[in-house]
Amino acid sequence: MSAPDSSNFRRVIPDGDDRLRRVCGDCGFIDYQNPKVVVGAIVTFEDQILLCRRAIPPRVGYLTHPAGHLERGETAEEGAIRECWEEARARIQIHSLIGVHSTPEAGVVEIIFGARMMEAAFGPGPESQDVALYRLDAVPLGELAFPTTRWGLERAIPAAVPRWHAANA
Ligand SMILES: [Zn+2]
Repeated sequence: MSAPDSSNFRRVIPDGDDRLRRVCGDCGFIDYQNPKVVVGAIVTFEDQILLCRRAIPPRVGYLTHPAGHLERGETAEEGAIRECWEEARARIQIHSLIGVHSTPEAGVVEIIFGARMMEAAFGPGPESQDVALYRLDAVPLGELAFPTTRWGLERAIPAAVPRWHAANA
């Protein structure tokens, strides 16, 4: 196998395949480019939602639920728990699967869990400027960093959706 940036890589359709792949001309290694898996959690404490204000690009200063890339060697649930600690210094208990959100054009599949905090203990990790609890009727939808947060919130708390639509009509 050559290094991935080797000039010996060519774009060809391998036998039995149906799309172009980068294939090593020396050994035939196929550099499959598959989507990344992101894991996240919509975290509640009583009737409030935990959101992080991002300190890193993209979308610095905007709000997101805790989420990040799943690492090899951990389950999706373990990854979501780790991200909640890294970004929000929150210890969570996962109680449900909210949904799987695909962004094909970005090559990302996000698994979003529902979780709760047992106590209101949280704070900004290195990737967050600030972490706070928001009442359901006070989530600043215009400050959300990515569509996935609203997607997850709407599925986690469907009762809040009509109010959000009214507030943004
Ligand atoms: Zn090779």
